[in-house]
Amino acid sequence: MRITRILAYRAELPLHETTYKWSGGKSVSVFDSTVVRVETDAGVTGHGEVCPLGPFYLPAYADGVRAGIRELGPHLIGADPRELAKLNRLMDAALKGHPYVKSGIDIACWDILGQVANMPVCELLGGRYGTDVHLYRAISQETPDVMAARVAEYRAMGYRRFQLKVGGDPDVDIERIRAVAAKLESGDRLIADANTGWVQHEAVRVAKAVRDIDVYIEQPCLTYEECLAVRRQIPHPFVLDENIDDLGVLLRAKADLAMDVVNLKISKLGGLTKTRQARDLCVSMGIGMTLEDSWGGDIATAAIAHLAHSTPTEFLFTTTDFNSYGPVSIATGAPQRVNGRMAASTAPGLGVQPRMEVLGDPLVTIDRAR
Ligand code: MG
Repeated sequence: MRITRILAYRAELPLHETTYKWSGGKSVSVFDSTVVRVETDAGVTGHGEVCPLGPFYLPAYADGVRAGIRELGPHLIGADPRELAKLNRLMDAALKGHPYVKSGIDIACWDILGQVANMPVCELLGGRYGTDVHLYRAISQETPDVMAARVAEYRAMGYRRFQLKVGGDPDVDIERIRAVAAKLESGDRLIADANTGWVQHEAVRVAKAVRDIDVYIEQPCLTYEECLAVRRQIPHPFVLDENIDDLGVLLRAKADLAMDVVNLKISKLGGLTKTRQARDLCVSMGIGMTLEDSWGGDIATAAIAHLAHSTPTEFLFTTTDFNSYGPVSIATGAPQRVNGRMAASTAPGLGVQPRMEVLGDPLVTIDRAR
């Protein structure tokens, strides 16, 4: 089987809540997502999706996905999409770095492999654990009262894990954590995600001010070293996210005992192939995981669901359903939240069919080898 054509489409994903806000005044109102379509000479077609959280979250931006595919695509025409390790080596040889550019292509090739094998991607990724997985809800940065009200609202929808967007004014963040914690019930989990927004001494101060609260502290500071210094001074369970973007730093963080949980995002690592490798390593090392992506619609949510559902239950800290955050559906067959949980499709591949009427014409078409 050979890749004959690679296409990229742009989808705009607005939000039910209008704007998503996190540390340092960063916000997005309409996400710019790229759907990747990989076609083959066997008539099998796979799809992937990459959606950066704006251009200022990770070293990734929406037009960069499309520009990268224009550069990389011609090297992949003629390659076998089922040979995913070889395909990833080919991508890494043709384009250094830029993992998020490769992510959508890799996901689409897993979709193809699943269809050819007549198996859902989660079974190919290791096997389906349990009937479904629990979801977290990200709580956009607002005043403490608004955030507490949102948590109550999402709790009523079935969510039991809440990731507060803090990383703002440290004194207000202390109030945010306290206001939300007061709304929680037994069995709920609370994460205060600063998204690199605190300087080191303020991070220590915030954590010590909420030392009586059952809360996870996620990525308080910009650098790994600052986060490690904070981690060593506070009692809370600790999550690293933005700094963990390859196996080298993951192994270093394990050796330093720098985290209890790691947040692995599919496009941050460069696709399902590489995220599975990191996931399996975390299982062997005893590290819990939040498995997700930077953002996305139905296709990204399907890929997340297959990855999460194929992870041993005790290691899956939480995952997310980005396709419920906004009104636009870009594919049928994607997981739908039920009582704060979702399940990977049982259909072959990712189990999604893109809505071509929503995606429109492709912005990128690659059909000739370099
Ligand atoms: Mg995070």
